[in-house]
Amino acid sequence: MSDDCIFCKIIAGDIPCSKVYEDDHVLAFNDINPKARIHVLVVPKTCFDRLHEAGDTHVGMLGRILVGVGRVAETTGITGSGYRVQFNQGRGAGQEVFHLHAHVTGGGSVPT
Ligand code: 5GP
Repeated sequence: MSDDCIFCKIIAGDIPCSKVYEDDHVLAFNDINPKARIHVLVVPKTCFDRLHEAGDTHVGMLGRILVGVGRVAETTGITGSGYRVQFNQGRGAGQEVFHLHAHVTGGGSVPT
């Protein structure tokens, strides 16, 4: 856990969130500033950020994020209508929180 990471604080329960799904490996919660009717963030419970620094030891955690994405899609009822999964990496890509997370958007028009 990083003291200055907002997602670590949410995972620790120090900052509230609207939880959608949780297991031993990930927490998924509604984005505070949704860009679509359904906009959920899937966050690994270990604080890791840069995909380009991932290696063999991260394979399990990365897979768990995608399993969490699937559970979120089922829970929010968007498997039929379709959904987008996005990882922003770096400020140039619009990343604001430097703790790896997948954006799951769906439930109508989904921004590109
Ligand atoms: P990024 O731009 O880093 O890929 O995405 C970070 C996302 O986290 C943004 O969509 C932003 O709205 C969301 N976010 C930032 N702070 C909070 C927070 O305290 N609670 C929740 N639920 N979402 C947050």
